[in-house]
Amino acid sequence: MSDVIPAIKKRKLSTSESIYLVEVLKGMAITMGHVIKNIIGELKGQSTFDTMEYPEVRKPVNDRFKGAHRLTTRPDGKYKCVACMCCSTACPAKCISIVAGEDADDPIEKYPVRFDIDMLRCIYCGFCVEACPKDAIRMDTRIYEINAFSRQDMIHTRDYMRDLMAGDKPEAEQWYRENPQHSPEGFLGEVPPVIP
Ligand code: SF4
Ligand code: SF4
Repeated sequence: MSDVIPAIKKRKLSTSESIYLVEVLKGMAITMGHVIKNIIGELKGQSTFDTMEYPEVRKPVNDRFKGAHRLTTRPDGKYKCVACMCCSTACPAKCISIVAGEDADDPIEKYPVRFDIDMLRCIYCGFCVEACPKDAIRMDTRIYEINAFSRQDMIHTRDYMRDLMAGDKPEAEQWYRENPQHSPEGFLGEVPPVIP
C-alpha cells in the first residue's frame, strides 16, 4: 500500500447549487413532506416517528455485523498476528499493509512491526478475518462510527486496532455488558498490556 493518498477533485457546483437558496428550499420541501407524512401517520395511529437519541441510544446491529477491525493479543500482551500476510493477500481492496519483524521468541518467529488498514479503501468484506490462521484480526467491535478529519487518520494502525476496545468506549462496553456472550476476548476484563 502506498503512503501517498491521491486527492479527489471536487465536483463543480452548478449555478443554482452555488446560490444555495434552491437547494435549501428543496431540502425544506423534503423535510416538510416527512413532517406531514408523520403527522398523518400519528393521527391514524400508525406512527412513523422512528427517531433515535444517538449517541446515547445506538442503533442495534446484527450479531454478524462487521464493525471496525481490531487486532487481538496473547495473554502476555503480544500480538497474535505472526505477519504471515494471509489477510493482506486475501484483501480484495489491497488496503492492508504489513511490515514483518523477527520476534525474539522463537516459536512465534514473526510479528507485525507495522500493520495498517486504509479504511477509506476497505469494503468491509471480512475476507481478512476469514483468511487469518491465528484469529489475530476480528471485526467484532460493533463500532460503525469509522470517521476522521483527515484522510491520513483513516489509516488504522497496529496499536490503534489493538487498543480499539480498550479505554473509553462506553457505548460498545454497555452493549457487551448486556450481551456478555458476544464479548470479545478480554474486553470486559483488563486492558491488554502495551508491547514495548
Ligand atoms: S474487510 Fe475486506 S476490504 Fe477490508 S481490510 Fe478486510 S479484506 Fe480488506
Ligand atoms: S492478521 Fe492474521 S492473516 Fe494477517 S498477517 Fe496477521 S496472522 Fe497473518
